[in-house]
Amino acid sequence: MKAGILCVGTELVTGLIRDANAYFFSQRLVEKGVFPKFVMFVPDEKEDIANGLTFLLDDPEVEVIIVSGGLGPTEDDFTKEVIAELLGRKLVFDELTWKKICQFYWNLRKTEPPENNKKQALIPEGATVLPNELGTAPGLKMEMRGKTIFVVPGVPREAEFFWSVIAGEIHAGGSSFYRTKILKFCGIGESQLATLMKPFLASLPEKVRFAFLPNYGEVWFYLYASEAGHQRREELDRLVEEVANIYGDFLFSPYGDTLEEAIGKILRERRLKLAIAESCTGGLLGDRITNVPGSSDYFERGYVVYSNRAKVEELGVPKEILEVKGAVSEEVACLMAQRAREKAAADIGMGITGIAGPTGATDTKPLGLTYMAVADERRVEVKKYQFGGDRLMNKRFASQFALSMLFLFLRGRG
Ligand code: ATP
Ligand code: MG
Repeated sequence: MKAGILCVGTELVTGLIRDANAYFFSQRLVEKGVFPKFVMFVPDEKEDIANGLTFLLDDPEVEVIIVSGGLGPTEDDFTKEVIAELLGRKLVFDELTWKKICQFYWNLRKTEPPENNKKQALIPEGATVLPNELGTAPGLKMEMRGKTIFVVPGVPREAEFFWSVIAGEIHAGGSSFYRTKILKFCGIGESQLATLMKPFLASLPEKVRFAFLPNYGEVWFYLYASEAGHQRREELDRLVEEVANIYGDFLFSPYGDTLEEAIGKILRERRLKLAIAESCTGGLLGDRITNVPGSSDYFERGYVVYSNRAKVEELGVPKEILEVKGAVSEEVACLMAQRAREKAAADIGMGITGIAGPTGATDTKPLGLTYMAVADERRVEVKKYQFGGDRLMNKRFASQFALSMLFLFLRGRG
């Protein structure tokens, strides 16, 4: 089964607002085995909305269409008018919907809704009203030329609210499933991995396609098959196992986990405690590690030792080393990892120090230069990176490569 998504909003095509709804619905559809064949963005112009919808209606493969946005009470919202016109249906005032809008308004503001909200109670004839518990604009469901059209409000929270209704109404079945598998690698480049995997890629069944997606220091290997029945599902499971067996060295997740989740699993399984000391990342690494539910099982503490004084006072990094080697140095990264581990009585320590920019570079230490170290009771490992982004990018890269390093260290530790 295939779907089309149409997002209405001038703010979306101009980049004023970053899309959330197509992103959300695409993911949910894929999880259900439905391939989102087209994602379209159109401005708040009647003709453009009509053209977008006509395009999706004309596609022979698209069976489900989700339209989001333009259901508001204001003059610039006219998705429903366009749809009604296109389908040759009248807009009729729906008393029940109006009552619900009044009730919603009263609960929220203790007043009657303004007159222009009446527009939101206009429903194309023959459409099913899908009540909105989070806002005033109801959702709609319509049948047209053998396709099902869902119309939902643009506010992302409200659009997402309608997913459970939509999910209950669409039934991918038989051989029409879209199936995907995602395997995530770290510590290896995209082309290196592709070269390594050449024999496997050559042996893939014809209907199974693949893609390598580099993603901030990770490489995602994506396997997918459309028109897949249950047999194909088993085949994909087998292929994932094969990849894990042959190319598992750099694989951190055959199930789509994030790197921080994969690290969490190892730490929890082995009952290890982690302490980190961050300089240039300012707490970002700790933020990412603690985004994982249950991270308190293994994350002992994080030191944000931004200044030299903090490195001395909090971790006891010797002043002389900071003066002679500089805060951004191999020696300081190692000491941060070791001292964080010791001070927190943890099993594993990690330290990061670098120059995020745009200032702070010297002749010998360019912007983006970053050292990171991991230590356990036996050894300390250090790595040097030269990132080339802006400040935020360098912080993100540093936290990402630190997670990679930590993962590979833990795995190597056995
Ligand atoms: P409402 O009844 O709340 O007015 P609506 O259906 O009219 O809903 P819009 O007016 O088009 O929705 O958009 C409401 C808000 O949601 C705006 O801030 C808009 O930028 C945002 N929005 C709309 N579509 C999207 C989208 N695809 N991704 C992210 N934000 C969106
Ligand atoms: Mg809008």
